[in-house]
Amino acid sequence: MSENDLKLLIADDDDGDRKQMRRTIKHIYPTALVEEALSIDDAIAASRNNEFDCAIIDYRMPGTNVLDGIKILQKSHPHMPLIMVTGQGDELIASEAFKAGISDYLPKSMITHENLQRIITSVQEKATLQRKVDEQREALTNYAHILSHDLRAPASQIISFHEMINTYVENGDKEKIKAYLRYSKDAAQHIMDLIEALSIYNSIDDQDCIHMAYEAMSDIVIDSIRFQNQAIKERKASVTYEKNLPQVKCNKAQIIQLFRNLISNGIKYNKEAMPCVHIDFEDKGNLWQFSVKDNGIGIPKENADSIFKMFSRLHNNEDYEGSGIGLATCKKIIQHHKGSIWLASKEGRGTTFFFTLPKDIPTQK
Ligand code: ADP
Repeated sequence: MSENDLKLLIADDDDGDRKQMRRTIKHIYPTALVEEALSIDDAIAASRNNEFDCAIIDYRMPGTNVLDGIKILQKSHPHMPLIMVTGQGDELIASEAFKAGISDYLPKSMITHENLQRIITSVQEKATLQRKVDEQREALTNYAHILSHDLRAPASQIISFHEMINTYVENGDKEKIKAYLRYSKDAAQHIMDLIEALSIYNSIDDQDCIHMAYEAMSDIVIDSIRFQNQAIKERKASVTYEKNLPQVKCNKAQIIQLFRNLISNGIKYNKEAMPCVHIDFEDKGNLWQFSVKDNGIGIPKENADSIFKMFSRLHNNEDYEGSGIGLATCKKIIQHHKGSIWLASKEGRGTTFFFTLPKDIPTQK
């Protein structure tokens, strides 16, 4: 990422120290976006809607214990580098802070342009490497899971269906043969769908940030809806969108994929006679916030975060067909756009997925 694209968070309750830190950062990175938080709770709230490249956190702040807050930040943003700033006498706390999840620390007395720049560069390099390692580890785990579970089940079904077909061939029961051929085809289709979903997931690459351009969101939404024509017809669904959708800097193919997944889920996980999906947006200053709202079956509150994990499903294939890769793909797409994705839902009363896209996304990594 170029230095100009940096997005930093400063958390410090002392007005003077915070302003001084902002001045130092602006001196090093004149066009960096700097947000300020007055407590660790503010910092946690700010990072909920923003993906910061680095957070600089004062050790002494009122409210929630800063080390506890750091653990929360580390858990929710495992790849966001956290630099802790310590005052005189706080140095001993450093080892505790590393255990809590900081990437590095800097005593206030040592804050100079050079030291701060060196430490920010170094924690960012470490975070980028760690992200790559984690992504590769996750990809390997996913493949292992797919091979040992998701592909094995339909493949062994196909084998047993074929054994049944053999039996019915001997009996000459054409109807049964036709039925088992159909089951067999469905199982093979499920394998194909899994492979397709997985290859889409794997094709989303950091490098695609280079292929970002200003795109009319209405064109993206229209294209995404077009992909759902069959489901819309079959379920007599209505998919609508706000008329004045903005121009947004993004990777068009990826955002189409994201809308496709959210719209198709809105129609699929829906028992209404007329499933309705509506796409809206809000201008949130330095980011656009989009929403995809449905009148479907809803998602229990306790699953609102875990549902974005790979293979996370709340239903089995008998009730609703799926792979559990769709929302993980959405999350990966949004992470690569440096935005956030979350949902609000009431069981039985529909779900709204929200995602943000920064107005100015870095063009280079
Ligand atoms: P898939 O639909 O292939 O199972 P997803 O990752 O898209 O995979 O979704 C994961 C799970 O989240 C689904 O299995 C379903 O239980 C739940 N889900 C996703 N979208 C919705 C929605 N709009 N309404 C209700 N449940 C949903």
